[in-house]
Amino acid sequence: MKLIPHVIDGRETASPRDDRFATVDPYTRKPWAEVALGGMEEAGLAVTAARRAFDEGPWPRMGYAERGAILHRLADLVEANLDELALADTTDMGKPISDTRGKDVPRSAYNFRFFADHARLSAAEALPMDSGHHAYTRFEPAGVVAAIAPWNFPLMLETWKIAPALAWGNTVVLKPAEQTPASAALLARLALEAGMPPGVLNVVHGYGPGSVGEALTRDPRVDRITFTGESATGRAIASAAAANLTPVSFELGGKGANLVFADADLDLAVSWSIKAIFSNAGQVCLAGSRLFVQREVYQEFLDRFVAAAEALVPGDPRDPATQLGPLASEEHYAKVMAYLDGVPGEGGKIATGGAGAEGLFVRPTVVVDAPATARVRREEIFGPVAVVTPFDTENEAVAAANDTPYGLNAMVFTENLSRAHRVSAALKAGTVWTNCFFVRDLRAPFGGVGDSGLGREGGTYSREFFTEPKAVVMAI
Ligand code: NAD
Repeated sequence: MKLIPHVIDGRETASPRDDRFATVDPYTRKPWAEVALGGMEEAGLAVTAARRAFDEGPWPRMGYAERGAILHRLADLVEANLDELALADTTDMGKPISDTRGKDVPRSAYNFRFFADHARLSAAEALPMDSGHHAYTRFEPAGVVAAIAPWNFPLMLETWKIAPALAWGNTVVLKPAEQTPASAALLARLALEAGMPPGVLNVVHGYGPGSVGEALTRDPRVDRITFTGESATGRAIASAAAANLTPVSFELGGKGANLVFADADLDLAVSWSIKAIFSNAGQVCLAGSRLFVQREVYQEFLDRFVAAAEALVPGDPRDPATQLGPLASEEHYAKVMAYLDGVPGEGGKIATGGAGAEGLFVRPTVVVDAPATARVRREEIFGPVAVVTPFDTENEAVAAANDTPYGLNAMVFTENLSRAHRVSAALKAGTVWTNCFFVRDLRAPFGGVGDSGLGREGGTYSREFFTEPKAVVMAI
């Protein structure tokens, strides 16, 4: 079986003792490749390579244009290898190929282009002072960045972290999720082909706790940790990072509220609400998993929402016609099904959905009548499960939406402009989408409040995290 290697210091390599684990295709439920299994030792080797490339190599010392040209070349190569990269993520996690080909991989290429250009264009900040002094800011690279990624948008979220880190002159050790190692190894190979010096982008595979992930977070030679994953993992990483005072940036779990007012355009609201919860089989941090619908349109919305959910086409994720793949792993399937099994006991009803006909499929599921205390309304399920609840007033809707420890994002559907602004301001969330979902401007801050994260990334927010801004003040 083919081996997915680590990439350390410009070399594709197995682990020194040749430890391996299997990566499983959740559609066939069979292992499809072996993966080099890293631990303390491999994490140490990767950090040593990244440290040397930072302390002695050309990357942090290059001009923005030269570094940017390499990142643009890498983006070209990502586009040229679209099929292979898309198939890697689809095989590893069961995401429909139309998503990986049509969205994730193109966006990964764009991440490199955007941050390469953004760094070049925002590298200077001059502050002429009234006193006649002149101050300016140097955005110096922070050093070695450990990037720890989840499995739900493998390549897209990895590039969201490493593109700004690299554009600002850092070197990187990337640890992809153990469920989705394949695209990261391909990316590291393409980076070398694009002309990135060895040691600038390293990839090590393995698990989190007691494994390569934890080792990276405890290594004092790491200068920044950027992590996307579960809130509980964020807590563990924060406490490991605290020992070395390593700055962290966390994008964590979510339980997004989606508010549909009676004055909404219902066609729009239904179609975006379907995308918001059933894309990627609901395995999306930003999923609109809590739907609150104003009572006047509740029944009509529910009928149309259920019909649209039932019309989604499940199938082989490699088939371009498939809209809904299996869940990403046996373990995750068991977790999602446990939530559904608990619905009746908590007073809720399943209006449509439940276990799929075969394998790790869960049908698009709509839960109604769940009380505010029900686990399906409070906890992140990370599956194709929407909980729909009626409300009467705007204040009640905002209070219900904010009744969560999470605060990643929310959606508002209304044709009333004042209400759109008022409710957007009142919602406790890092992003509010009005009459749309998932539309991103990479200059905008991205992150969450409460249990959904720490810090923001995107545009200048990424610059703040991945650099050490230095003030230089001169008497003129
Ligand atoms: P996870 O926390 O289980 O794992 C994420 C990564 O952390 C993996 O690479 C894992 O190996 C590693 N890890 C686990 N424990 C670790 C430890 N103690 N030290 C170091 N590394 C460790 O998350 P997941 O199941 O892969 O992803 C799903 C979660 O990610 C959901 O909660 C989802 O909401 C969240 N997520 C958030 C965003 C966002 O932008 N806010 C985006 C995508 C996913």
